[in-house]
Amino acid sequence: MKVYDVVILGGGASGLFLANNIKGKVDYLIVDKSEIPKKIKISGGGKCNFTNDFVSSSNYLSKSKKVSDILDAFINKDVIEYFKDIPYKKIKNHQYFAKNSSYIIDKLNQKKFIAKILSVEKIKDMFCIKTSKGEIRSKKVVVATGGVSYKKLGSSAIGYEIAKKFGHTIVPLSPALVGLTLQKEQFWMKELSGVSLKAKVRAGEKTFYDDILFSHYGLTGPAILNSSLYWRKGKISINFLPDFKFYSTNKTLSNSLNLPKRFVLGFLRANGLEDRPLNRSKDIVARLKEYSFAPAGTFGYERAEVTRGGVDMDELDNLESRFVKNLYFIGEVVDVTGELGGYNFQWCFSSAKLVSSFLS
Ligand SMILES: Cc1cc2nc3c(=O)[nH]c(=O)nc-3n(C[C@H](O)[C@H](O)[C@H](O)COP(=O)(O)OP(=O)(O)OC[C@H]3O[C@@H](n4cnc5c(N)ncnc54)[C@H](O)[C@@H]3O)c2cc1C
Repeated sequence: MKVYDVVILGGGASGLFLANNIKGKVDYLIVDKSEIPKKIKISGGGKCNFTNDFVSSSNYLSKSKKVSDILDAFINKDVIEYFKDIPYKKIKNHQYFAKNSSYIIDKLNQKKFIAKILSVEKIKDMFCIKTSKGEIRSKKVVVATGGVSYKKLGSSAIGYEIAKKFGHTIVPLSPALVGLTLQKEQFWMKELSGVSLKAKVRAGEKTFYDDILFSHYGLTGPAILNSSLYWRKGKISINFLPDFKFYSTNKTLSNSLNLPKRFVLGFLRANGLEDRPLNRSKDIVARLKEYSFAPAGTFGYERAEVTRGGVDMDELDNLESRFVKNLYFIGEVVDVTGELGGYNFQWCFSSAKLVSSFLS
């Protein structure tokens, strides 16, 4: 039976980027149940936000302190250089989007062995990978099977199962970059479905100044999605008037605040307050500047862009298992989760690049 030098489990962003970096140097095989990297396809609203000018370890949540070392293996400037021949655009002056995600796919995609990965065993120095289409043998294995969010795109927990089987700890998983659901006291927000505004949202130690969007399910929009990464159970705080400077006027709140009228009236009604002149409403302005509440939960894995948690990076040396030689983990399956804005693909590329240097 043929023995590959390297088998890459998962042909998404991290697996494909790795394959492109070892091409022509070693005999490898990518195993995936899908021909198309579906997450790349739909990412960034079909335009794949592939990196960001502000990449640093502070944009990532991880139990480990090693994120920065791994990002250094292939920084944002390297990513931009790598994709320089595809049409792309800088948005908000720091986020890099392809004109269409198909350009990224065309650059990265490769021939794969299409099969479902079932399990991995190590017998002496050889890995035996069981798939729905038979067994594959390899000297080295790289697990790049991603997280469990967006199941409809083919995600599975196989990467975590492989890690556990080989003795690794999985830092607890939860949906992240996801909308937040509401408790009864905040159901008034659901009636504002469709309203959006710019606010400062604080969760834990982090504050995000960006759009929030009211929906039938609860709260969403970039500032909320980012906050969900740092939110555990407990309160978040929203400043609905981040740039507001108090001034004197007899105009009512709904006519003087730089906020959607529907929102101001909904807020006042829900809190048993009247639409008073701004002059006499310093107390209400203060409440709008510091509105704290505890979300009920999240919209769940089906709508989460990423999975928080994963294979504990402190049990990996340069992303190689400390327990099993020649077994590596890259991309989202590792306990490193980036904020919204291209940070997650950047992590995929950096982690894949680092591992590529140990495979060839
Ligand atoms: C809607 C959405 C939008 C996003 N937009 C962005 C964005 O603009 N910018 C950004 O940085 N990040 C974005 N992300 C996050 C980003 O897509 C992921 O972090 C990234 O794709 C993770 O790459 P990966 O290679 O680790 O895993 P994946 O891309 O998830 O790849 C894993 C691969 O493994 C395969 N696989 C899994 N289980 C099995 C199995 N049992 N057998 C065979 N194959 C299997 C899957 O088919 C898949 O191809 C977005 C995510 C979503 C859901």
